[in-house]
Order: sequence, then C-alpha cells, then structure tokens
Amino acid sequence: MSRQGRSERAPTSPVRRAGRARGRAARARGRLRRPGAPAAALALLLILGAGVPAGAAELLRIRTWGGDEHFRVVLDLSEPAVHEDRVVGDPDRVAINLRDSRAGDLAIPETGDWMVQRIRINRLGMTVQVVLDLAGPARTKIFDLPPEGDRPARVVCDVFRPRARPKPERPPAFVVVLDPGHGGRDPGAVHRRLQEKEIVLDVARRAAARLGREPGVEVHLTRQRDTFVSLAGRARRAQQESADIFISIHVNGARSGAPRGAEVFFLSLAGASDVAARELAALENAAVTEEADPLLGEIAELPFAVDLLKTDTVRRSSLLAEAILDRLVESRLAASRGVKQANFVVLRSCRVPSALVELGFLSNPEDARQLASDGHREALAGAIAEGVLEFRDRFARRHGGAALPGGPAEAPDAGGPVSGRLNPPAPSR
Ligand SMILES: [Zn+2]
Repeated sequence: MSRQGRSERAPTSPVRRAGRARGRAARARGRLRRPGAPAAALALLLILGAGVPAGAAELLRIRTWGGDEHFRVVLDLSEPAVHEDRVVGDPDRVAINLRDSRAGDLAIPETGDWMVQRIRINRLGMTVQVVLDLAGPARTKIFDLPPEGDRPARVVCDVFRPRARPKPERPPAFVVVLDPGHGGRDPGAVHRRLQEKEIVLDVARRAAARLGREPGVEVHLTRQRDTFVSLAGRARRAQQESADIFISIHVNGARSGAPRGAEVFFLSLAGASDVAARELAALENAAVTEEADPLLGEIAELPFAVDLLKTDTVRRSSLLAEAILDRLVESRLAASRGVKQANFVVLRSCRVPSALVELGFLSNPEDARQLASDGHREALAGAIAEGVLEFRDRFARRHGGAALPGGPAEAPDAGGPVSGRLNPPAPSR
C-alpha cells in the first residue's frame, strides 16, 4: 500500500474491521473509492499533531486483563485502524495485523497467564502485527471500539478459556522402594553387638533421606522400624507403590573372617553365578521358610519368570546393580566383589529392575568396624543414592512401562548383554 493510497482515506468513515471473511481487495476498493478524501485526511493530521505519518494509526499501548472466563488484550490506537486477524494452530496463536500502522517504543506487558503466554509485536513494513502465543486452541473474539471521551480507538481481543483447564504436565515421580533386609525376629548376620537388621535399616533411612531431597524422586521403605516383613510382603510393597526400581539392602556374614567388601546382586533365573552366591541366596532366602505368607505360594505360581525373560527387566537390573557398585567402589567405601547373579526370592518376586546390595562383611573385623560408624553408613547411603540417580538418568524407562507384568519388550536405552560385565565366578569359600 502506497502513501498515495493512504492519503485518500476518509477520516469520517466508520471503524472498519476486516474479519477473516472479508477480502483485502474489497477493503482496498472501499478506501480508494471515496471522493474528496485528501483534504479531510490532511485536516485530521493537523488535529492529531506530531509524529504520526499521514494516515497511519499508531499503536500507543497494550493493556491486558485476565478474568475467569477470558483473557483480554486491548490495543490502544491513535486512530481506528483496519486489521486482519488470524487464529493459527501449531503452535496456537492469534495474530492481529494492523494495516497502515506503526508502533513506536512501547512496553509489551508480561501476561502472567497460563493460557495467553506471551504477547509479541512484529513490524512488517506498514503493518504492525500483534501476536498472542496461546497454550492451546482457544475461542477468540476480536472487536473494535471507537474513541470515546478521553479513551482512544481500541482493538480488543478476548481469548476465552476452555471449560476445563488442562493440568500442567508434570512428569511422574521416579519411585524407589528401598528394602532394609531382615528385621524383628530375623536379625540377619550378627557380629558381637552388631546386627545386620539394624545396620541396613539405618543405611536405608539415610539413603531415603538423600533421595527424598532429589526433585522428582519418591522413596518408600519396606520397613521403617525393627519389624519382621515377609519377603513376599516386601515385593508386594514395590508393586503397591508402583516402584520403578527396588533395592534390597543387606550386610554379609561368612564363616571365615577373611572375605570382605561389597557386592551387588541381581536376579538370576539360571542359577547363582558362583557357589558363594548360591550359599548367600540360601541364607537370605531363609526368611521364606519362617513365614506363613499365603501370597508367597501365589507368587511362585505366577508365570512371571517367563515374562522376566521376555522383557528386559533382568538386563536393567544388571545395569542398576552396576551403577550402585560403581559408586560404592569409586567412593572407596568398599572393596568390590563385583556384580553377581543369584536367585534371591525378594528379587524374584519383583517386576521392576531390582538389585540386592551386600554392603560388607560383619564377619570381617575391618568391615565390621566401618559398618559400625555413622560416617561410613552415611557415605554408603550416599553411594546407593547416587547409583540410583545415575540409573534413573541413563537407563530408566518411563513410569508405567517397566512396572507392567509381561509388558511390551521395548528395546532398552542402552547397555550391553546381561552377562557383558559380569565378574568371573569367584572361588568358593
Ligand atoms: Zn541379609
């Protein structure tokens, strides 16, 4: 549009608004046809005074107002302006194109609104485009208001809120179930006054506190106190909480004082990876025989072992076990005895990546001395927490996938074959 064209505009014409339905050509015809317009336009320019090029409306101010039903944006103009409006999707936005207009330096208000997220201005030649960025599709109503008293000409855009406000998308929490082994009448390994059940509860609580401070992580303990919880009850807890991972925490004991260090197990369906692991599994599984838990039989009946093989839960479990052991070893908290497989009942019953951590040997004097200290327990807890977070960040599948029994066998994000990083079998002791 040339200046010549604009100068022919009639100042006395009513507020003209070009909706989506009306074409550009019709508007142009309407404008150019008016006789005697130049003189009248000049007169208007004289009245309006300084700064505004002939015939151009100036966008003076943008005002906003948010209500329950709609969000309103008001464009204050120096004079009525023809505008073309568009509602566009992907991403959803409203564009109001003010023809033959200009915009100086004006403040663009922050909307502070969930639905109308941002207001922008584009200067496109002689068109000023005001864009409202929307959170989603919305019904809009755009209309003009003529100058009135000390109020200027206005273009008003109401963006109506949808009936139900969509909930902000928050990723589901990463749910960790920590399982302090033994408890109550089952003390686990015992060395003088030190009892496995007490040490592992303390470490688990400390790890839970560490993980609980992490945004997006939800932690549950299978026991909070010195109480007996059946192995099936522990696995059931993981299911109830829709756990993403399950970690059973234990302390070792051996007949000899020589063995020491930490080892982390994940479930083997084929059998233990060494004789010692088999013996340990027998020891940790001993609680099974003491319990009269009707659910245990049901769990044994579930065709879950087959599902486990179908899915990649075992592989993920090996990655979880490695992540935790790596942290324990890197922090020089324990000599590594490696990641191993064993047929622990508590792991067998879980349908999510699971690991069983043996923090050290109460039967070894040096391990026992360390396990008695608060500082060492805190450090162990920190290493477990870090291993968990590393696993979450690198390998965890989104909530709801892994927890489904017999769910679809998706390809995991990373990792080699299950046996890829297994330590060679240790000599039996
Ligand atoms: Zn134990």
